[in-house]
Amino acid sequence: MNNETTTNENIINIKDLKKKYDDGQTAALDGVDLEIRKGEFVSLMGPSGSGKTTLLNMIGALDSAEEGSIIVAGHNLMEKKDFSSFRSKEIGFIFQFHNLIPNLTVSENVQIPMLETDIQDEEMAKRANKLLESLNLGNKVDQVPTKLSGGERQRVAIARALVNHPSIILADEPTGSLDSTTGDIILNILREIHQKENVTLLLVTHEPYVADMADRKISLMDGKIKEE
Ligand code: ADP
Repeated sequence: MNNETTTNENIINIKDLKKKYDDGQTAALDGVDLEIRKGEFVSLMGPSGSGKTTLLNMIGALDSAEEGSIIVAGHNLMEKKDFSSFRSKEIGFIFQFHNLIPNLTVSENVQIPMLETDIQDEEMAKRANKLLESLNLGNKVDQVPTKLSGGERQRVAIARALVNHPSIILADEPTGSLDSTTGDIILNILREIHQKENVTLLLVTHEPYVADMADRKISLMDGKIKEE
């Protein structure tokens, strides 16, 4: 593989993307232009209500836009079709409030993204547990998430996001609900994953020192991107 070509490739290509809510009253995205290279770590800041979550949802094909163009990992997300296979292959989501399923074990939670694939049950459990061990959660695989601390739950959410080796991780304030020491542990894990696996990382944060860790800082203001 030609590394230079790979690094220069844009994995996210967005042009003049618009998304309105409330019958057009609220312009959540008002002409977003954004290019992100494969393997880049980009931080996204912006006041509450500026469109950060909406943008992440568009990139992860959880929501669709009305106007503009959005191509992610070679997929044209303006097409009207089911993107669940794209999502499970290409995207790992990490949310502020981990969104783990309370009545499933830690291992079962991490296996969820693999349900979309044809991996056998035994192999799914093996992969999930190996990843959990690497995040120091080997002794928690059979616990339910409610028995875990906030930092442990977020590490489970990271494992769930990584289990299918996605090309892009979308992290929406992943440390927002954690104390600063635990938050730093989570950030270091994300940085390490980004460096080791050449995964593209788009991270929403309110903390300037977190944003500074990225290769590039951008912010949203009134539905438009500003490069720092
Ligand atoms: P941020 O993540 O920066 O706080 P959001 O993307 O959540 O911003 O929201 C951008 C704007 O779109 C806000 O004005 C918000 O109220 C509105 N919005 C977001 N999601 C919806 C929705 N599902 N229905 C109606 N309005 C929404």
